[in-house]
Amino acid sequence: MIIFAPKETDSSETRAALTPITIKRLVDIGLEVEVESGIGAGCDHSDIEYSESGAKIITDRGSSLSTADFIFRVRKPPVEEISILKEGAMHLSFLDPFNDSESLHAMASSGTTAVSLEMIPRTTLAQKMDALSSQANIAGYTAVIYSAEKLNKILPMMMTPAGTISPAKYFILGIGVAGLQAIATAKRLGARVTAFDVRQEALEQAESLGAKALRIDLGGDSSETGQVYAKELTPEQLDKQREEQAKVCEDSDVVITTAKVFGRKSPILVTKDVIERMKPGSMIIDLAAESGGNVEGTVLDQEVVTENGVSIVGIGNFEGRVARHSSQVFSANLGNFIEHFWDQEENSFKFNLDDEILSGCVLTHAGKIVHERFLEESTEE
Ligand code: NAD
Repeated sequence: MIIFAPKETDSSETRAALTPITIKRLVDIGLEVEVESGIGAGCDHSDIEYSESGAKIITDRGSSLSTADFIFRVRKPPVEEISILKEGAMHLSFLDPFNDSESLHAMASSGTTAVSLEMIPRTTLAQKMDALSSQANIAGYTAVIYSAEKLNKILPMMMTPAGTISPAKYFILGIGVAGLQAIATAKRLGARVTAFDVRQEALEQAESLGAKALRIDLGGDSSETGQVYAKELTPEQLDKQREEQAKVCEDSDVVITTAKVFGRKSPILVTKDVIERMKPGSMIIDLAAESGGNVEGTVLDQEVVTENGVSIVGIGNFEGRVARHSSQVFSANLGNFIEHFWDQEENSFKFNLDDEILSGCVLTHAGKIVHERFLEESTEE
């Protein structure tokens, strides 16, 4: 059985879906691994390193795409590369399935078994395969480091003969994987951190990291969906939240927003009128930029400075700024996925759609859309 990892087609993507450490593990369990020449250029792994780990270096991308049994990528494939995949091949990558039904249908018609990394269940067993978490964790860290470099202040309190410098104030909105790492990193650098999430449990986690939790009574049941994700708030609850948060934003040097609602556009939490009241030189980093953004005025992949001197950072791929480590954990996630289902005696992948993990993340199989969340859409068309 052959795994092929092509170079990412998006030229701004620095991550690689496979790195040498994972390749060694996959070769050890009996798989053949092929990678496209130059795959590691953005994360500083040379072709030689790949070759030494046991991979075959490929220059004919099309041929490997059409013969491999498994394709590993970070981002979704260009649609024209879906039809050339070998029938029955398993394709693993982020697929953006809620916004891109064209790729989903193309995967179904080409007979591909499409695994959407966004849909890996949030269970203890699947944690080792959870690329959404491994990447969000790194994004949370990188966002704080980016702000620390750009801010016209230092982060820790300093008592000097020339007087006391007070710590920078951070406000973290959304305390999921990225938010928790942002809190931990800002605290380690000495900043004063306040944090908010609609989930009570998340507020307690923030407090355990030394942040001050902003508690807002939103009324009703505003917490979890039962699958660790947040519920979408009502318009009234969102208004209440924005009002209470505004005071913290005005007082903050850096606001980092990470609030996402799974499968939906992210809620706007920081509005223009609040930004107008923020201090010149302050910064908002919108980590939800790729899913619509939490901030009015975010432009994806750009940094915008408002008239009153507030920077709104919409960088969509913070984890790509530290591609060596983000590729390492991404690749490990995919390797763990294959290893988990690999039958070494039979030298085959144990495919079973009754399995909780596979039924959660396999969207298309044997010529059809098979995931219940996307079935309705497929029958409507
Ligand atoms: P996410 O990226 O979907 O959302 C980020 C955060 O935004 C969440 O904490 C969410 O509650 C919050 N949010 C949503 N709407 C908001 C609003 N209006 N205002 C403020 N905050 C809002 O979530 P995530 O980071 O991927 O993970 C969510 C939870 O799942 C976390 O508690 C995480 O620890 C847990 N998790 C569990 C597992 C596992 O059990 N295997 C794996 C990964 C994550």
